[in-house]
Amino acid sequence: MSLSQGKIIFARAKKLGFAAAGVTGTANLPAAAKKQADLPANTSSFIVLAHQYPPFSLGEVYSGDVNIYLAQYSRGYDYHDHLKNKLKSLTKQISSVLGVKHHWYGVDNHPLSEKSLAQQAGLGFLGKNNLLIIPGLGSLYFLALVASPLKLKYLVKTPAQIFFAGNNNKAIELDNSSSCQGCNKCIQVCPGNALNINGSFCKENCRSYLTQQRGILSLSQLKIIANNFWGCDDCQLVCPHNIYNYNANYYDSTIRNYSKNNWPLPGKLFPADFLNIAHNNSISSKLADYPFSWRGARILLRNFLINLAHDKAYNYLSQIIKISENNSPIIRYYCGYYFYNLALEGRPVAYQELKKLYIQESDNNCREELQKLLRKLSTEERSQ
Ligand code: SF4
Ligand code: SF4
Repeated sequence: MSLSQGKIIFARAKKLGFAAAGVTGTANLPAAAKKQADLPANTSSFIVLAHQYPPFSLGEVYSGDVNIYLAQYSRGYDYHDHLKNKLKSLTKQISSVLGVKHHWYGVDNHPLSEKSLAQQAGLGFLGKNNLLIIPGLGSLYFLALVASPLKLKYLVKTPAQIFFAGNNNKAIELDNSSSCQGCNKCIQVCPGNALNINGSFCKENCRSYLTQQRGILSLSQLKIIANNFWGCDDCQLVCPHNIYNYNANYYDSTIRNYSKNNWPLPGKLFPADFLNIAHNNSISSKLADYPFSWRGARILLRNFLINLAHDKAYNYLSQIIKISENNSPIIRYYCGYYFYNLALEGRPVAYQELKKLYIQESDNNCREELQKLLRKLSTEERSQ
């Protein structure tokens, strides 16, 4: 199969707003993964595509008196649906132009490692922040896959060169190195010390991972979460490879063929949207449009309670007292965590609520954890 087939595919992908693409074979794919992914039997190559994160600022998606942070990738309409729509259009177009049916595509909804396939396709290199960095694009992008029955040729130029060529893109001139060189900025900035100079990554200390983790987190893990409601961008925002990605010109359509019109913006979120989860026991249709909705009502409410606690948001006390009657022990515990943080600030009423919650608690595990908070409070009081 010819090199030009790959070029045709890349040109169509670029028109649909993808920022980089590459091709790779299927030889290194474990048989079990192939089967699990339900790939068409005639799959010979993968087209690996990168699409920039939604272009919205935090203020465009959230407003309220509680300080929270949403990672850049989670702002805007759910990327799974948005990118799948683009892939549907891409596969339709290339099936028609190349005369061979392409129908399997995926965004995070399959067992294949998109990151490994992208690296194999020559899209970029693994940075010390454990993310795949595409020279000239950085790491603030999503990956997507299309299975192809064609034996597509590896393109000689780097995908980034093909995509950005002719755009007079300064990022290519200034930031096209394919390594971290002597930089350690992400390791230094990571709030959980999750990254290590030897390339190891401790997910249990990663804020992004913790905002998705179920159950009761340790106090040190809660400290790492701080005021992040979902995800963490710290190791990406300091990365020199992303320098153009948070420049105001980043979304300028003349630079990367990309504009705000390319991504739907769901309804703006307010604190009440998160607190209403407790009253309705489910997430609203507005929250359901965001990409974190897959994690479910309980974890989203828990994360907001953690943010409220860390913000010492005293004016929410009466609402949290009501929520502490919730039938989930996890939610009751995090109401206790909110009371604990206010009690640390010298709010006696919050201390009384924590004590009441502990006395009334019927779930053994939750009761034990609430007791730990009470003990910690008395230790801290004694040490003052
Ligand atoms: S996402 Fe945040 S917590 Fe996780 S490794 Fe990067 S900086 Fe550290
Ligand atoms: S911040 Fe520096 S060390 Fe970390 S991934 Fe970027 S270039 Fe590499």
